[in-house]
Amino acid sequence: MAQQNVKSYKVLVGLEIHVQLATASKMFTGAANAFGAEPNSLVDAQVLGLPGVLPVMNRRAVEYAIKVGLALNCTIARHTKWDRKSYFYPDLPKNYQISQYDLPLCERGHFDLLEEDGSVHPVRIRRAHLEEDAGKLLHESPGGHRIDGSIVDLNRAGTPLLEIVTEPDFHSPRQVALFAQELQKIVQFLGVSQAQMQMGQMRFEPNINVHITDESGAVHKTAITEIKNLNSFSVLERATAYEINRQVEQWIDDGSLGQKSTHGWDEQREITFLQRTKEEANDYRYFPDPDLMPVEVDEGWLAELKAQVGELPAARRKRYAEALGLSAADAAALASDRGVGDYYEEALAGGADAKRAGNLLINVLGQLANRQGKPIYELGLTPHRLAEVASLIDQNKVAASNALPLIEKLLESDAAVEMTARNLGLLQTSDTAAIDAAIEALIAQDPKPLQDLKAGKQAAMGALVGMLMRQAKGLNPKLVQERLREKLGISPL
Ligand code: MN
Repeated sequence: MAQQNVKSYKVLVGLEIHVQLATASKMFTGAANAFGAEPNSLVDAQVLGLPGVLPVMNRRAVEYAIKVGLALNCTIARHTKWDRKSYFYPDLPKNYQISQYDLPLCERGHFDLLEEDGSVHPVRIRRAHLEEDAGKLLHESPGGHRIDGSIVDLNRAGTPLLEIVTEPDFHSPRQVALFAQELQKIVQFLGVSQAQMQMGQMRFEPNINVHITDESGAVHKTAITEIKNLNSFSVLERATAYEINRQVEQWIDDGSLGQKSTHGWDEQREITFLQRTKEEANDYRYFPDPDLMPVEVDEGWLAELKAQVGELPAARRKRYAEALGLSAADAAALASDRGVGDYYEEALAGGADAKRAGNLLINVLGQLANRQGKPIYELGLTPHRLAEVASLIDQNKVAASNALPLIEKLLESDAAVEMTARNLGLLQTSDTAAIDAAIEALIAQDPKPLQDLKAGKQAAMGALVGMLMRQAKGLNPKLVQERLREKLGISPL
């Protein structure tokens, strides 16, 4: 067919996300759920699919899944069950995956995606269900040596996986990537997954098609293609962009709409490639797993989980910016990690000024946390003591620039905050008598900078304050400058 002319086109992308849940044990057995162990060491009879072994549901995994469902405003099923999804693959010894087919644990949710221009884009969540992960086939030995054929590591087999499926509500690769980032923050905030992509704990599969309007106004819908197993935000965005473009170009070229299919991503060549035309659900021969009890979620259990979810990062961020007046960047820094946000809240409850405490947390505690390689809330400074530091600064008793040495000292002992500041010589006096005495002495000496200042050279002020501070340690520089101006009859700045 001849070249086609595009008048406009609309992009439709839905996202499937697999999130590994950070439970101590696997989805249906007590074998440990961990990353980086000796190959095939986290394996038991159930993982191996040995005959006669019965699965037992991991209650914690169900709770984690419900928490994510609540965060995505889903309806949580009060009654659900487990289904077998049959397929043969060497990294799945049972020959079926236990999943949820027609009764997902969570469904019909929605999430307001905050775009970079500040607008809100609503995303509908179709469902989120629980299943177990497969193992891993390796095509070289762990040392990187070439081997004949493939070897299998079943450590990952049976790990709890939450599969989240959105409606095709994304209209650009950027929106897809933003949502993926937001979802990572949510699961980390909820503490249900580390969601580290380099460890495969979060994997993305965009479903992509395009509605092309030609010059006559007719609409041509390309077939949906799914790109499998993308494991970084950047790859997700680039692969989606590539695939959109490929579908449009193909239609322009020969008018073909393609076929429903599964593609892979080649990171070296930056292209998608056809893997297979997609199987239908009936190929999997889903049926209810006769070895597992259905799941009943009662009001009490649900209420308990709702209470644990609490205020989510987006709501916190909004409140910090709007009610507390923090900058967007500071609000995001404090709200994205639950521990940091909770710590901040306690400092505020301890009487700290919102901006001062935010500043100390991000800049001073952030620096110490980086240095010590642990989170802010594990440094050993109680939020209450941080609030005391904040008020010493706000009362001009300690210079903001001395917060770091003061807090470092506070980490070493439980001594009172103000006393520690005094012992370190960081306590500034606001006793005007002491300041006035130092100024009188300076005037008596009449040094060169003082003559300069009297002659109108404002720049000499800094040198004079410095001299006064050296003469009498612990003076409050702001107050020193005020008193000096007053004494000399210079109008305040
Ligand atoms: Mn899945």
